Amino acid sequence: MNGPPTAGILAIGDELLGGETLDRNSAWISSRLAELGIGTGEHRTVGDDASAIAGAFAELRSRHGVVISTGGLGPTLDDCTRPGLAESLGEPLVEDAEALAHLEAWFTGRGRPMPVANRTQALRPEGAICLDNPHGTAPGLLVEAEAGGLVACLPGPPREMQPMFLEQVRPRLAVAGEAVGRTRLVHACGAGESDLAARLGELMAPGRTPQVGITASHGVVTARIRSRGRAADVESQLDRAAEEIERRWAPYAFGRDATTLASATAADLVAGGRTLAVAESCTAGMLGEMLVAVSGASSFFEGGWLVYSNALKTSQLGVPESVLERHGAVSEPTAALLAMAAASRAGTDLALSVTGVAGPTGGSEHKPVGTVFIGLCDRRDGPARVRRFRFPGDRDAVRRRSATSALAMLRLHIAGAGGTPLLWEWPE
Ligand code: AMP
Ligand code: MG
Repeated sequence: MNGPPTAGILAIGDELLGGETLDRNSAWISSRLAELGIGTGEHRTVGDDASAIAGAFAELRSRHGVVISTGGLGPTLDDCTRPGLAESLGEPLVEDAEALAHLEAWFTGRGRPMPVANRTQALRPEGAICLDNPHGTAPGLLVEAEAGGLVACLPGPPREMQPMFLEQVRPRLAVAGEAVGRTRLVHACGAGESDLAARLGELMAPGRTPQVGITASHGVVTARIRSRGRAADVESQLDRAAEEIERRWAPYAFGRDATTLASATAADLVAGGRTLAVAESCTAGMLGEMLVAVSGASSFFEGGWLVYSNALKTSQLGVPESVLERHGAVSEPTAALLAMAAASRAGTDLALSVTGVAGPTGGSEHKPVGTVFIGLCDRRDGPARVRRFRFPGDRDAVRRRSATSALAMLRLHIAGAGGTPLLWEWPE
């Protein structure tokens, strides 16, 4: 085999094909392999069927030096990874004495006799070795191949699969080469995916090193920068590319890697020693939920009000009935009053408010579904500012985009860029 091996990942189980279980194992394994500099060439999924499994192993082994499967190692008749692998290798299944002793000890340790069915879990293709499973009954299987390649079969449950991969498969792969693959992420919020992509221009050209791609999810756009080579070279190359992207994405870029919009906003609040409260109508707690997901939230977040009905907007935050009657609950004056009342009643430096029409019902000609007003009160500079948005999407998307845009508004305000236009903003 020339060059570093690529990997083929095989997910096994009818529940995956039926759509009941999402294949998280393959994604997790590919991420770990990427850290070692091994690129994944292919993900395959097959059901609990020995000949389908045998065929998939044969094809993946013909194309990839590293082949790793998950699932189908249980004791029941629908678990056919062992016979499937044996068939593709053209080897008989033999009983592994050590694996059998381990299985018996597992049951003895739990005060139960071993069910007959579990005996099949001690079977392995003649040329394979068994991998010990300290977290369950299913031993894994491993076949070493030439040039640092291998075939490994791991159990389906992630809490058994992950330690087995880390402790027993990864050390056998690390010798594959010195090259590492690394990914760096840069996140931005407040501008559209195509606008942000245009700002990256030639950085996204196919075949360039490092490679740059873009994904978008719930209003957050992420640049994925990938490279492989010697660890030190790769790191500095990724750092330079990340800095360049942050420069081109200013002021929308808010962080790298595991940073979330909420954690970035939280860090800005903490750095400035400022506190925050919220008044939420159509998001009904979603904004508070995002903020409290950040550990240490109590150092900047006081709490807030979930004022869905008009009656509560009046009784809890003092929005006059006359304002609600004249302008409506979904209006600039209501959003402003909610934000100001939240800040003054909670005694915080800042407050955010959200009021809107999440749909699918309740829209009107002047306030169609997706119309949302977001208020931001900064007690340093007087009355609240309110921005009007028109978010696309269903009820869930409108509510998520509202909460995300409120955070984006706050972050830009703290950064001194409060006037920056935001995605989906719908100026009067
Ligand atoms: P098995 O080893 O086939 O008995 O798998 C047992 C359980 O592991 C399944 O019921 C799933 O809950 C889980 N599982 C199996 N394959 C996957 C996968 N590819 N991703 C996530 N979970 C999985
Ligand atoms: Mg299964």
